[in-house]
Amino acid sequence: MLDKLLNEEYSIDSKIIDIVNSASKLVLENSKFLDEIKEYNQYKILAAFKKVGLSQADFAYATGYGYGDRGREKTEEIFSLIFKAEDALVRPAISSGTHALSLTLSGILNKGDKLVAITGHPYDTLQEVIGIKGDSRNSLIKKGIFYDYVDLVDNRFDFENIKTKIEGAKLVTIQRSTGYGERRALTISEIEEAISFVKDNNPDAIVMVDNCYGEFTEKNEPVEVGADLAVGSLIKNPGGGIALGGGYIVGKRLLIEDISERLYAPGIGKETGLTFDTTRSTLQGLFFAPHITIEAMRSALLMCKVFGDMGYQTVPNYQDPRSDIIQSIYFREEQKLIDFVQSIQQAASVGSLVVPYPWDMPGYSNQVIMASGGFVDGSSIEISADGPLREPYIAYFQGGVVYEQGKLACMLALSKFNNIKK
Ligand SMILES: *Cc1c(COP(=O)(O)O)cnc(C)c1O
Repeated sequence: MLDKLLNEEYSIDSKIIDIVNSASKLVLENSKFLDEIKEYNQYKILAAFKKVGLSQADFAYATGYGYGDRGREKTEEIFSLIFKAEDALVRPAISSGTHALSLTLSGILNKGDKLVAITGHPYDTLQEVIGIKGDSRNSLIKKGIFYDYVDLVDNRFDFENIKTKIEGAKLVTIQRSTGYGERRALTISEIEEAISFVKDNNPDAIVMVDNCYGEFTEKNEPVEVGADLAVGSLIKNPGGGIALGGGYIVGKRLLIEDISERLYAPGIGKETGLTFDTTRSTLQGLFFAPHITIEAMRSALLMCKVFGDMGYQTVPNYQDPRSDIIQSIYFREEQKLIDFVQSIQQAASVGSLVVPYPWDMPGYSNQVIMASGGFVDGSSIEISADGPLREPYIAYFQGGVVYEQGKLACMLALSKFNNIKK
């Protein structure tokens, strides 16, 4: 019956269905440990809702200045509890992950301060924020902030070089997920080790973790292993595919105050700011996030298994530890990358008839091809795949709010590649 449906609706033949079905069986058997993470994080969220006494009345929202928006205040209390932080800033006024990170950096760093990235140059869009790319008059470097970085070596922190570079640094940044890099995500325990090393060698340094794509893939989050700040986007993991937009910053109270005063105004900070009826969807998304994140991790594992078996290099590989929802596949040829991304689009919930082509995306130095079709535009916790058109033509696959969608995407992608080994 399933064969007939997939054949009629998607022209997927039985051989492909068999390959993906048997890979899927293995993935589900091998990923039981993810259920434990999901369960733990789900209770963590429900307990936070209970602790703040979340009620229907909290979904009403303020107008004007936005004083006393109870839903907004409880949302930030909930994020503080879940991320074990002193305080949080969770706002629809934060337009993206990049904005949240930029806001954090510019809220903390002043002229003459030094910023050091210890996981190599940060994510593409952040490079423009820092000023090592692009020509914005408002980059950190243009504003008199010093920047330095230390590359990872074989996916590990280069402690020897970190020690010298972080001397005198005001802020040290760590990127948990791969971004458009060629490495697996750093696990929370690896991040913990790096944070204590930084603190041992420069006790005054503020450590920020770019937590994008990492939330709820493990039981712990960066702040509880020593980070002063963790930052992310609500159209990735913590929005559960439901949040309509926004970003979050969690961490030390005084730092959150500095960042809030940067977002709003000195003396006003986070006491104002309208939420425009987003509290319900933000929190409903958070409620679903642990479940959705694990569905996405299983979809990533399936892609990894199927394309790995076909001989493509995958990062992380099937056995590697995971700390984000990204699966990269090395296609080595431009056309294969395009084929893959276009076939993922066909599995979208919204926009499945769109055919993505490479384009010059703002903030990125190469052309990028991007499959992204979902209920929330640009949401990459929903099924999506993208990749810059440069060697070695890596596709970054992520999301899929239900595992079956990931499985369908996998069958569609496989159908496009004809050199199938059995
Ligand atoms: C997605 C992402 C960001 C921010 O991207 P936006 O598209 O601006 O939300 C930053 N860092 C990493 C590692 C990311 O994956």
